Amino acid sequence: MSNIQQNIEHISSLIHRAQQKCGRAPDSVQLLAVSKTKPLQDILAAAKAGQTAFGENYVQEGVDKIQKVREIAPELTLQWHFIGPIQSNKTKPIAESFDWVHSIERAKIAQRLNEQRPVEKGPLQVLIQVNTSGESSKSGTTEHEVFQLAELISSLPNLTLRGLMSIPANVSDYQSQLNAFKQLALLQGKLSQRFEQIDTLSMGMSGDMEAAIEAGSTMVRIGTAIFGARHYNKQ
Ligand SMILES: *Cc1c(COP(=O)(O)O)cnc(C)c1O
Repeated sequence: MSNIQQNIEHISSLIHRAQQKCGRAPDSVQLLAVSKTKPLQDILAAAKAGQTAFGENYVQEGVDKIQKVREIAPELTLQWHFIGPIQSNKTKPIAESFDWVHSIERAKIAQRLNEQRPVEKGPLQVLIQVNTSGESSKSGTTEHEVFQLAELISSLPNLTLRGLMSIPANVSDYQSQLNAFKQLALLQGKLSQRFEQIDTLSMGMSGDMEAAIEAGSTMVRIGTAIFGARHYNKQ
């Protein structure tokens, strides 16, 4: 068994244990494998271990990988999630190639993705990225802008609003992690009273997955714990 397969099994058991510990249903948390900067072979190794959902942060890298996987392994049906910052001149390849987008934070991006989504592919599944920490250096819409953006997205035929995503401040103590995640979960609860189709809370990474699950995450985005440390300069 490859390291990547072992890591996926390990993470899956940690997710299972975290769900059990706080009394959540089995399979209520989906694992998104974040493969940014990692080579194609790593994605294929993860797919061999049964992993189907992959997250990418950089548009060109992601689009290239999606195309190559289709050529090399057409039998695989993988789901591709765009989770990185979005510049408005890069929305077209995202709309054309990805299945999900986690990082919508302003109206213009939502409108462009809607216009550029090929109708035959069906609606793009989208999340609004929220800046729960209030740090101006972090991306994400503010909490009070979320409802406005959600109203807009709901009116766009080629986007389906599925929920919220956040990248909280990087802290190591469990209680602070939990508090930040609970804040997003609370907001999601309010939003889902207005928008019934909402079912996805994308939060938790390699270093804070357990707290995210306790707070109600339905999708954890795991890179390092599956694929190892990233070496940006070597890519
Ligand atoms: C890189 C990245 C991840 C994965 O982070 P790890 O700490 O490697 O698990 C998750 N979400 C986003 C938005 C990322 O950019």
